[in-house]
Amino acid sequence: MSSAPRPARLAPLLPLALALATVATAPVAQSEWAPPVRAAPAAPIAPAAPGDDLASLNDRARAALEKNQPGEAVELLEKALKLDPTQPVIRGNLAWAYFKRGQQSLADYRLDQAGADYKKAVELNPDEGGYAMHLGQLLLRRYRLEEAEKVVRTLLERHPDALDAWLLLGDISSLQDDLPGAQQAYEKAAASSDAELAALARTAADRTARQYAVEKDYRTDTTPFFIIRGPSQSKGPLMSVRLANVLDRSRAEVCASLNVSPQRRATVVLYPPDAFRQVTGTHDWVGGLFDRKIRLPIDDVERDLPVIESAFRHEFTHLIVSELSPGCPVFLNEGLADVMGEGRGQGLAKLAAYLDAHGLARDAVPSVTALPASFMEIADKDQVELAYLVSYAFVDHVVNFHGLGPVMDWVQDVGAHPVDEAYRAATGRTLADEEALFRDQLRHAGAPRR
Ligand SMILES: [Zn+2]
Repeated sequence: MSSAPRPARLAPLLPLALALATVATAPVAQSEWAPPVRAAPAAPIAPAAPGDDLASLNDRARAALEKNQPGEAVELLEKALKLDPTQPVIRGNLAWAYFKRGQQSLADYRLDQAGADYKKAVELNPDEGGYAMHLGQLLLRRYRLEEAEKVVRTLLERHPDALDAWLLLGDISSLQDDLPGAQQAYEKAAASSDAELAALARTAADRTARQYAVEKDYRTDTTPFFIIRGPSQSKGPLMSVRLANVLDRSRAEVCASLNVSPQRRATVVLYPPDAFRQVTGTHDWVGGLFDRKIRLPIDDVERDLPVIESAFRHEFTHLIVSELSPGCPVFLNEGLADVMGEGRGQGLAKLAAYLDAHGLARDAVPSVTALPASFMEIADKDQVELAYLVSYAFVDHVVNFHGLGPVMDWVQDVGAHPVDEAYRAATGRTLADEEALFRDQLRHAGAPRR
């Protein structure tokens, strides 16, 4: 299962002033984790002294921005800034141009460039808190936690009332295993007058309190790829080594299959089953959770090893997807996680068996794009199971037909483009055609092996 990283919410940005002419508000396509920063029409301000050169450079930059060419705008405004390094309008506009160029890079998965441009925007216009929020979110997405913390703390020194930033700081502190610090930050955000933000922060604060109550005496083992936390009395260090080896091997398998290799350590928290329910508040059929930490219920390691491995591969796939494509639709995310967790080539037979056992027609399955936006919210066990099985069977079908490479292209592209458009770019086939083929195969799928 995956609890998708919560999209941070930004207050509308301060108006952006472009001298001499207004700038149109461009529609901003972004993944859901980073809500749009809005450009507001400018107040027509006459530029100071240097006259034509400054004005003309700024004017051409505005035109470039309107044509969605922020790279050109950056060059023009850098020239203007050289003419007058103190002109606040130029500094503000250049910040905006860097930010827009950063968004373009982000859409193309050039994450380093996006981060560098966001950083420039923050430096040029530190009064605009939205830039720092976007930078902080990008760094968090990439698990660059120390940098993210620095950016958000600097923002909070300037704008202590930026309650969104406290929420983001809570997420960062939680990932840094500073649960009391995280709770404090969430409590600040919970004081917001924005009811939605306050509710999100309240839930996060309560969840963090539950985690801390359970985890405060857990031991921490740090390996080259993992930070493993678990009860200190659980069967001694030998078991930790055994488990760490299993996680290393499973991780290597997933990385090789998906051709992605995160270099940072992943945090894995292992709970006795009742503590897992207490901390995550999940239904008893949930076998693991990813909320940027991998949380697994573990009873008897030796006995449950295959289950643990499968659950880990599932949640580790979510970790990879969370960095590549935060806006990935849940059916694709869960389907891919099941392909990695349960194995390839089983999806169709498992779905067919489920439908037959429940007296459901083979044609009764919903389209993957019509599945709920979050499976976590479904309270009915059968409906949850069907949603997972349809996702698994469909993604498994696509993997078998096209291979994992195109599926990973799809995952990556879907953050920036509509799901069917991304599908076509990755596989050369429309999603509707693929679903029709999938349904045809499901209709004729044989009884599964017992
Ligand atoms: Zn999942």
